[in-house]
Amino acid sequence: MTSTIPELFGSSVFNDKVMRAKLPKDIYKALKKTIENGTHLELDVANAVAVAMKEWAVEHGATHYTHWFQPMTGYTAEKHDSFISPIGDGQIIMDFSGKELIKGEPDASSFPSGGLRATFEARGYTAWDPTSPAFIKDHTLYIPTAFCSYSGEVLDKKTPLLRSMETLSREATHILHLLGHTDVTSVNTTVGPEQEYFIVERDLYKKRKDLVFCGRTLFGAPAPKGQEMEDHYFGALKPRIADFMHELDEELWKLGIPAKTKHNEVAPAQHELAPIFETSNVAVDHNQLTMELMRKVARKHGFVCLLHEKPFEGINGSGKHNNWSLITNTGVNLLDPGKTPGENTQFLIFLMAVIKAVDDYADLLRISVAGAGNDHRLGGNEAPPAIVSIFLGNELQAVMDSIENDTFFNGSQREQLETGAHVLPHFTKDTTDRNRTSPFAFTGNKFEFRMLGSSASVSTPNIVLNTAVAEVLRQFSSQLEHVPKEELSTAIHDLLKTTLLEHKRIIFNGNGYTDEWVAEAERRGLPNLVSTPDALEHFTDPKNIELFSKHGVFTKEEILSRNEILLENYSKTIHIEGKTLEEMLKKQVLPAISSYSEQLADGAMKKKSLVPGLLLDYDIQLISKLNELQTTITNKLSLLVQHIDEAEKQDTPLLQAKYYQRYVLSDMESIRSVVNEAESLIPDTYLPYPTYDQLLFSI
Ligand code: ADP
Ligand code: MG
Repeated sequence: MTSTIPELFGSSVFNDKVMRAKLPKDIYKALKKTIENGTHLELDVANAVAVAMKEWAVEHGATHYTHWFQPMTGYTAEKHDSFISPIGDGQIIMDFSGKELIKGEPDASSFPSGGLRATFEARGYTAWDPTSPAFIKDHTLYIPTAFCSYSGEVLDKKTPLLRSMETLSREATHILHLLGHTDVTSVNTTVGPEQEYFIVERDLYKKRKDLVFCGRTLFGAPAPKGQEMEDHYFGALKPRIADFMHELDEELWKLGIPAKTKHNEVAPAQHELAPIFETSNVAVDHNQLTMELMRKVARKHGFVCLLHEKPFEGINGSGKHNNWSLITNTGVNLLDPGKTPGENTQFLIFLMAVIKAVDDYADLLRISVAGAGNDHRLGGNEAPPAIVSIFLGNELQAVMDSIENDTFFNGSQREQLETGAHVLPHFTKDTTDRNRTSPFAFTGNKFEFRMLGSSASVSTPNIVLNTAVAEVLRQFSSQLEHVPKEELSTAIHDLLKTTLLEHKRIIFNGNGYTDEWVAEAERRGLPNLVSTPDALEHFTDPKNIELFSKHGVFTKEEILSRNEILLENYSKTIHIEGKTLEEMLKKQVLPAISSYSEQLADGAMKKKSLVPGLLLDYDIQLISKLNELQTTITNKLSLLVQHIDEAEKQDTPLLQAKYYQRYVLSDMESIRSVVNEAESLIPDTYLPYPTYDQLLFSI
């Protein structure tokens, strides 16, 4: 069966086209209303939708349905129920009710819940999110859902995202009304996440316990060649990689995921996929599916897809760029500088709101991307530093300068503010003036938040971004609300200017990889939260709790529980890494050094018996060097084991995370360099695991 790509696209999705064809008109209308305005869905509507969904799913080969949700594991979760329902006589029919569509009751007790499990009932339920379309995968109908505890505390990554989108929509609409755009009734956030990943041979992967258990190598002498030739970036795709990417695209397209761009990335064996942007919650769901399908399709091609932020030392790690903007229900991108004057004021207000939000909540943005994996990237000379700052580019910077210096508000220029024509040079999307070192860059008509790790859900960063911007818009609105119409443009000017003066410290257009920037940022008072425990310590700061609770995104309890989950996840990750390293050293590295030394010694003895009096400088030096390294590794290993024990005894999740970071992680780093040195002296045939050159250059 061949079909064209437009036919293939969305063919496994219960999308608008299917709904229109399958649903009675009034039901379709009611459902659309729920999707667009978030109105309550009546049970009779749900029943009719369930029948249509089931029929369509069964026609497409589905036997089961699942409430698909996003618990705090960072992955998705699913439990499949078949449609079969007995009708007596040993017969069955395929059945699915509105109730089953709307609500599920999975046992929540085994999902991370932080402190919530102790204080609240462990039971949880899933609630259908009709704003993200259902789809079929592996003979199952997937229904995107939100996941809450029975008493309503959120246990997932979707509910708070939907809440943050709602509050941002409300605040953005409010301020647009103040500006006279009363036709706008809602504002959506859009996200396009660019996804980086590595592909390695499956057979080689299976021989590396560190890749299997930790997703990253814990040691490995560098290959003679790395990324210094810059020949992999945008290089021609190898045939097997091209085949993999082709199948991945097709699988994604079937699910209605608009995969658009694919290319080789900077590091050897590294690649990237970028979709066309979508509404945030759909983009989040689609990014989860993209990661899952990358893993799955890779295995079919004899590969493994590594989504870890830093699988290999010495070459780039993988990130995820969160392209983000706001769009009105009337189709206006609020971060598009546009051509017409009216839009310019509006654009400047939203731009300034983002600048202030990023400055006020820089710590939260850093926290939103925190994790053991991403710590290896941020601050390394390949990814944005752990310091959050904004890049505006030359043209916008000039606009900021004119606001700051009143240059467009003087004399004849006053006229130009009203018409706006000269305030903002017409913007062409500038692809040359890119600052790749900036964590948060304006790129023409959107912001690109670049600190995200490759493996994480894009939900949390967007929750923070949406809520922080909503808060600032609310503050702006309250300043503009009671201003008489004729004074509005002056009031806006004042607002823009004072906000800029207060927050321009967050703007940095230079090179973020330099030590000078670290020092400069400190002078400016910008937070530099280097590691995950440092960052998470601030999650529960009063100002952050206030932000989230004020906007109904998280309660204080939900933040405390989330923080605990994140800290525990960090400690567990490093614990597993430490144990894996211990095992690899004991069972692979130390024995390899021994057997090679033995072989050298035997050989030397033989040579000596053949030619008495022969000088054996080379053999002796090598043997003693290996012996010395072996001793060092053994000593460092026993320290590592002690520190892991000690870490497990720490009293609180924060202390434990800090202990792991301070001692266990640094033990691992120092072991790594000794092992690498030993590895570089040992022939491949003595190593029971594949080396960097095999892993990175064999496809
Ligand atoms: P680049 O010049 O960075 O390649 P692209 O236009 O190709 O810019 O966009 C990169 C990513 O940004 C893509 O995933 C794209 O869909 C997304 N993107 C573009 N416009 C928006 C927007 N308004 N909101 C969110 N994401 C966007
Ligand atoms: Mg980009």
